[in-house]
Amino acid sequence: MKPRDRLRIAMQKSGRLTEPALELLNRCGLTFRQSRDKLFCFGEGEPVDLLLVRDDDIPGLISQGVCDLGIVGRNVLSEYRLTGGLDGPALAEWRPLGFGRCRLSVAVPQELDYRDASQLQGQRIATSYPGLLGEWLRERGVDASVVTLAGSVEIAPRLGTADAICDLVQSGGTLVANQLREADVLLESEAVLAGPQVLPTDERGDMIDLLLKRLDGVIQVRE
Ligand code: ATP
Ligand code: ZN
Repeated sequence: MKPRDRLRIAMQKSGRLTEPALELLNRCGLTFRQSRDKLFCFGEGEPVDLLLVRDDDIPGLISQGVCDLGIVGRNVLSEYRLTGGLDGPALAEWRPLGFGRCRLSVAVPQELDYRDASQLQGQRIATSYPGLLGEWLRERGVDASVVTLAGSVEIAPRLGTADAICDLVQSGGTLVANQLREADVLLESEAVLAGPQVLPTDERGDMIDLLLKRLDGVIQVRE
């Protein structure tokens, strides 16, 4: 791949992280011209461009070198580290960004009196996060069967395809609507700036340093 002389940041094309991510970059002094296909946004002042993609694709795009940095949930980055990115370069969480906060939690039927993870022994747990859930269960010596679903995880217990779920929770409203309740928290998540563990040493590395400094200023002001 030809070395790029512009920095490329991947972010979610449309979803919960899109607006706050753009706003944060704007506050760092970066503005973008929206292109018609909206996959690629050209940076106006500084040599920094945006790639607008599905959030799940962001860690892979960073490890393939298609982009230099990404704004993505810690949940997605951590899952990728455990399942998708075993052969590629190590990815790091360069900064927590303070938005998109949620928890990755185990939820059980409301009537179950949950005390600890041992009650999940032998149960079927539906999730889109098999890596994180598998690691959490292993650490607790619990042998459960992990049912991997791409979406609509919360309806699995009602359908009878799982006994419990492991999913993202913010207010808990979705859980209540499905007669579930949050039982245990696996991961506290928020949007993070993700990038390679080893940053490039060329001009892009200098641009990343500058961006990190500006981010620190903006995040400090907000706190
Ligand atoms: P995409 O089309 O990009 O794959 P998506 O449906 O996976 O979109 P969103 O629902 O927009 O993604 O969530 C993006 C991120 O927002 C999540 O990965 C998570 O980090 C964060 N988030 C915060 N609160 C919640 C919540 N209640 N449910 C789901 N995600 C949440
Ligand atoms: Zn997604």
